[in-house]
This record gives sequence, structure tokens and C-alpha cells, in this order.
Amino acid sequence: MDELKGKTALITGGSQGIGKSIAVAMAKEGANIIINDIEPAKEGAEATVAELKALGVEAASYYADVSNFEAVKAMVEEIKKTFPNINILVNNAGITKDRTLKKMTPEEWNSVISINLNSVYNVTHNVLEMIPEGGSIISLSSIAGVGGNFGQCNYASTKAGIIGFTKSLAKELGKQKITVNAIAPGFIKSKMTDKIPMMMLDQILSLIPSKEMGQPEDVANLAVFLASSKGKYISSQVIRVDGGMMFG
Ligand code: NAP
Repeated sequence: MDELKGKTALITGGSQGIGKSIAVAMAKEGANIIINDIEPAKEGAEATVAELKALGVEAASYYADVSNFEAVKAMVEEIKKTFPNINILVNNAGITKDRTLKKMTPEEWNSVISINLNSVYNVTHNVLEMIPEGGSIISLSSIAGVGGNFGQCNYASTKAGIIGFTKSLAKELGKQKITVNAIAPGFIKSKMTDKIPMMMLDQILSLIPSKEMGQPEDVANLAVFLASSKGKYISSQVIRVDGGMMFG
């Protein structure tokens, strides 16, 4: 119950979905939680913070578009005033704007690259000096980043980019005993996958041995393990949470 007691976690895009689930699972293990999200998500973020506080930990929300370096820098300066150390960083914020490459606009390409990949640099770069020895950096990749996916050249590029980032940073931070890992979920129930048309969903389910989508908690359980002392010798890994899906 106290795997993460005394630790502080920052989770980007943490007001709902997988990010919220990671926040709740880490709080249940005693971690104090900082949620980041964009200003329009404030209501949901505040409700999540109230839920986390009810679990008996410290929790707070801070708002910044993670694709904006200066906004992230300013947010981190604010966070520092209350939370000088961040033991666990979860780069979770992400979006999709699916379209075949032929029809994909520069906006659809650039916004996905900025929010999903540039964000990982923006946040990790600004938070790095606050991560003490024994810390953990976890970034949300995807099976689309491993195997590619129809209509997701932009999204899959960012999720593959996160894998390169993870493996490189793990080499840089090993001496400080900071682990760096990526989680590659398959199809997990959330606002993001609620957008998938029913016909496509049937095709997706046919590739999953249990014929079920995953739940956000399935991803959160792994994040807790990686951030705990039990995961201290696991670094530079891309771990799939996909129910054994035949994909990629
Ligand atoms: P989600 O429910 O849409 O949650 C994403 C969160 O990120 C939302 O709270 C969103 O806020 C926030 N966000 C979006 N743009 C942001 C920005 N510029 N700055 C800060 N926060 C921002 O999606 P999810 O399914 O939980 O996905 C979480 C992560 O897992 C993503 O990186 C996703 O790519 C990855 N993943 C998900 C699946 C899946 O099956 N669900 C599979 C593989 C990988 P708003 O909603 O207010 O925009």
C-alpha cells in the first residue's frame, strides 16, 4: 500500500483517462500528485485533485500546454515553489488527428508532433534538475509507435520518437540511478479510443485474444511498478500493455 510513500509524481494530461488512472494508482501507494493539463480541462483536473486528496495525499493541478516550451518552463517554476522534488515524471499528454498521409494537413501533422513529442522534451528538460537519484521517467508510447498504423503517420511517428527518446535518455541518466521507460498500450478504454468508429473497433477486437479492450488501470498498474523500488533495475524498456494483441 505504501510503495510510493514520500514520493512526488508529475503526470501530464492527468485530469482524465490513462493519466488520471495513473494518478489515482500512485496516490493509493502514497505518492503526492501534481496533475498538469490544459486550461480548458480545469474543471476535470480539479475534480481529480479532490479525489486524490480524499486518498490522503497532497495533490495539486497546474495548467500549461505541454507543446509550448515557455509555458512549461513557467509552470515548472511555479511547481518548484511547493514541490522542490519530482521523483516520478509521467509524460502522458497526447492527442490523435488521424488521416491518411495523402490527405493530412500541415496542421494535423504539426500539432500531433508538438503535443505528443515536443512536449516530452519540453517537460523532461525543464523537470530534470528536480528529479533526485532513484527517480523514474515514464512516457506513454503506443503499439502504433512499434508497428505503425493506418491513418496515423503523425501519431505513430511521435510514439516511435518517444521510444528513441527513452532509450537515449536511459543511457544519459543511468549514473544518477534514474530509470527511463516507455509504456506502449494497445487499445485502452478512454476518451481517445471512444472516437474509434464501431466497425473499426470490431476489427481491432478481433486481433485481441480476449476480445476485450484494456482498462486505464491496466496501464496504471505497470506505471506504479516501474516507479516503485521493485522496478529500480528496469530501464530503457518499451513495455506493451496490449492483452497480447496481434499487431505490429
Ligand atoms: P485522453 O483521455 O484523451 O487523455 C489525454 C489527456 O491529455 C487529456 O486530459 C487531454 O486534455 C490532455 N492534453 C491534450 N493536449 C494537451 C496539451 N497540449 N497539454 C497538456 N495536456 C494535454 O487519452 P488517453 O487515452 O488517456 O491517452 C493518454 C496517453 O496514452 C496518450 O499519450 C496516448 O497517446 C497514449 N495511448 C493511449 C492509448 C489508448 O488506447 N487509449 C493507446 C496507446 C497510447 P483534453 O482532453 O482537455 O484535451
